[in-house]
Amino acid sequence: MRANVLLMGMGGITAYYPSRVEFHSASPYLPAGRDMFGDVLQAAHAKRIRVVGRFDFSKTQQAAFDAHPEWFFRKANGDPVIYNGLYSTCINGPYYREQAIKILSEALDRYPVDGLFFNAFGNQSRDYSGNDVGLCHCAVCRRKYEQMFHKEIPDKPDDDYRKFMFVSSREVAAAFGNLIHQKRPQAGYFNYVQESTDGIMSESNTAVARALPLWPYSASDNVNRALNSESGKMPVNLCMQFVDYWWRFATVSRDEIALRLWENVANGGALAFEVNGTLDQQDRQAVEAAKPVFHWLAQNEQYYSRERSAARVLLLTGPSSTGQTYSQQSYRGLFRLLSEEHIPFAVSDNLRWLGNREFDLVIAADWAPPELRGYAENGGHVLVVSPSEPQFSVAKVVHNWPDRKGYFRIRDHSLFPSLRDTDVLMLNGPYTELSEDPASPLTLIPPSMIGPPEKVHVDWKDTQQPGLVVRAAGNGTIAWIPWDLGALYYRESLPAHAGLFRDVVDRLNPARQLRTNAHPLVEMTWMQQGDRKLLHLINLSGHSQTGYFAPIPMTGIHVQIAGRFKHAASVRTRGNLPVHVEGDYSSFTLPRLTDYELIVLN
Ligand SMILES: [Zn+2]
Repeated sequence: MRANVLLMGMGGITAYYPSRVEFHSASPYLPAGRDMFGDVLQAAHAKRIRVVGRFDFSKTQQAAFDAHPEWFFRKANGDPVIYNGLYSTCINGPYYREQAIKILSEALDRYPVDGLFFNAFGNQSRDYSGNDVGLCHCAVCRRKYEQMFHKEIPDKPDDDYRKFMFVSSREVAAAFGNLIHQKRPQAGYFNYVQESTDGIMSESNTAVARALPLWPYSASDNVNRALNSESGKMPVNLCMQFVDYWWRFATVSRDEIALRLWENVANGGALAFEVNGTLDQQDRQAVEAAKPVFHWLAQNEQYYSRERSAARVLLLTGPSSTGQTYSQQSYRGLFRLLSEEHIPFAVSDNLRWLGNREFDLVIAADWAPPELRGYAENGGHVLVVSPSEPQFSVAKVVHNWPDRKGYFRIRDHSLFPSLRDTDVLMLNGPYTELSEDPASPLTLIPPSMIGPPEKVHVDWKDTQQPGLVVRAAGNGTIAWIPWDLGALYYRESLPAHAGLFRDVVDRLNPARQLRTNAHPLVEMTWMQQGDRKLLHLINLSGHSQTGYFAPIPMTGIHVQIAGRFKHAASVRTRGNLPVHVEGDYSSFTLPRLTDYELIVLN
């Protein structure tokens, strides 16, 4: 594989080494008297491969339950949660808070690991078969919840309960992190949570019951968000080879595997591939697809460390820490629009970029906190795309319509050059009615008669209710599209909505970082590495419906990019690309793109 890190099972549910901690027994499937983890660690280190140990403290054996019933998750009726003979533990109970610390202390004292990773961290609401197990009602949870919220644990998770679980899991995350950093200062701490860790884990995976469409940007989404929300932490997005839990040994398409891997590294993340068991799989397609990507990266590894996003547009999404949930469809629609427009963008789920990193435009999906107002007044440009009212004043709200099936009329075509052939745009879904504005360039046409055809829209009326407001705010600008353009585009992919988005973005930020004739299904990321810039191109044209096929090669991709560069070299297809500098832009042409290309600019 040419991988330089191995992440493998170490302990928790079962120990992969002889452990002396009570109730932490070695797997009965391992040869007695052998130390599998220790042997592998030694062999890997001899080949300069780093080893990250994997722990899972979410469940343990019946012997522990019999001796320490207070360690465990309790359903509302007091029953434990049992799955394949294993008992679910509780993040608030002494198993996570005391016993796990004993287990980890032994592991860290005994083995010079390069990192630890935690699977299924915290209370799981579903078992592997998809059954809802409800919320934990153990004595500690009940007492702690009462202290925090002065009420009983609800039947279903609400905002307060999500906050409770967030706080509880982060307490343990911090304790694990402190222990690792104290005992092995060089070792990395990896978890699916962002707090207290050194690396942020995520997964690109599939599940047969998941709602369609597929999300072909899954790896880019996970890595972009991790890198730009928590700069300084390594994003590790695991490319899961299997189709779903029921079929751990049946793999997804080779081209889906390769696409995720290229997306991981094009966005500044680790190249990370996952299998259950060893690499001699019964379905070898995924391993065989991953191998050449690993080999290629090994030969070109100098380009893939310490990458930073050089994007000057920010897509802001809601933070997980508030306990609130945000619309995935609205966010994904905007993500797709930006990628298809070839606008380099960074994703953040917090405001730590404020005062630290400059952007030309900030696009807020469902979360528009008050700080954005001050950001705009200091010269920033903000575009809010959401029927949810921003947490600062933009325009007077008259009414919140949960579902409007109407149109918007384009009143001023000079502002929307992309919509030459379009006078009306579809509206479906929530609309926030703002006070009437006779000067608005985009106005609502409310629902009217739709049938029979003899009657279609004969009663429709124009209004002065805006579909877009643009306001000066101090030295900057705030624009608000008070309906769900992102979700509509995610679902319908209408070019009229893409055109509106493009024209509003270009009005707020006329000096784009990148202009190109590339097909919308070429994803481009613009990264900084030391004093050079890297342009990654990923060909997504092999994706259609539920399939991933080999991407269709594309030719003659012309790129004009902000910055004055002397040299441009393509790395995957070796070549020097002649650069033409004009003003503050450099342009070059990539003759041919197969699956992926890296262009290095100096
Ligand atoms: Zn509990």
